[in-house]
Amino acid sequence: AGGHRLQVFSDEMRVAVKERIAAEARLRAALAGDREAALPVWFQPIVNTATGRIVGAEALVRMFTPEGNLLGPGHFIPAAEETGLIVALGEHVLRLAVRHLMAWKNQLPYISVNVSPRQLAEPDFVPMVAAVLAENPGLDPSRVVLEITETALLGSSVDVRERLESIKALGVRVALDDFGTGYSSLTWLQSVPADVVKLDRSFVAGLAADPRKSSIISAVLWLARSLNMTVVAEGVEDPEDWKALQAADCPSCQGYLFGRPLPASEFELMLPFPETA
Ligand code: C2E
Ligand code: CA
Ligand code: CA
Repeated sequence: AGGHRLQVFSDEMRVAVKERIAAEARLRAALAGDREAALPVWFQPIVNTATGRIVGAEALVRMFTPEGNLLGPGHFIPAAEETGLIVALGEHVLRLAVRHLMAWKNQLPYISVNVSPRQLAEPDFVPMVAAVLAENPGLDPSRVVLEITETALLGSSVDVRERLESIKALGVRVALDDFGTGYSSLTWLQSVPADVVKLDRSFVAGLAADPRKSSIISAVLWLARSLNMTVVAEGVEDPEDWKALQAADCPSCQGYLFGRPLPASEFELMLPFPETA
């Protein structure tokens, strides 16, 4: 029986290792070829809570396999982080997202881009961001928001605070992603010079029916306001939750209620006409 159990376990491990190797190979091929086709960036609206108008968009990467299948980031970001390919992937996403912002510059106030802890730790990260900004003359850097997660703080040998200070010196804004889900959110808030709090959807979904959630949200909104930060509530799917966020004076919202992530060509149909912007 022991032998059988060991056999089953090692088969599972072998499958997992195989999948990881396949994911890495796919990612390498995608980065080596036509990146924009194989690794498109999709856009999800972020809206003003009071009016529902689009104030920004989060850039979310996707992957098309050679067979034409669409993969979400959960299928390749972990492998990208393990292999270090996230550095090239992250640069690609930032460049593409900023290029789209330039194309929509009279219609879309800002673009928000995810940065993985591994990217942030790279010595070349700040110069890379500076180079992308320099490629887009006339762009107000505060219209670019970099989203980082609390795990960036953990086990990192670089001084994250210092790194974020140099990013902010470029004029871009910094958001704390998935806020509230980590183990040390208050430490994070205290130690990191961020501009935006992205309240994790676990606090947002079902908010209208849950007094504990609404108390937490009110407290985070108050805290953010006193620290001069703005708040985006993530994962808004339910009109009742939207109403509750309006009543709580939450500045902005993101979620399926306002729009799912869409390819650029579809997302831009949601934007106001340039004349009226
Ligand atoms: P995230 O940064 O928290 O991004 C928000 C995720 O929530 C997106 O999933 C989005 O589609 C989903 N979402 C938005 N509104 C709703 C809603 O109302 N309900 C629900 N249930 N989900 C909603 P997606 O695009 O699959 O991305 C998953 C994660 O992958 C992201 O979580 C982010 O951590 C990571 N990711 C995506 N793109 C990039 C990237 O370019 N670089 C890095 N480093 N990570 C990325
Ligand atoms: Ca994010
Ligand atoms: Ca998030």
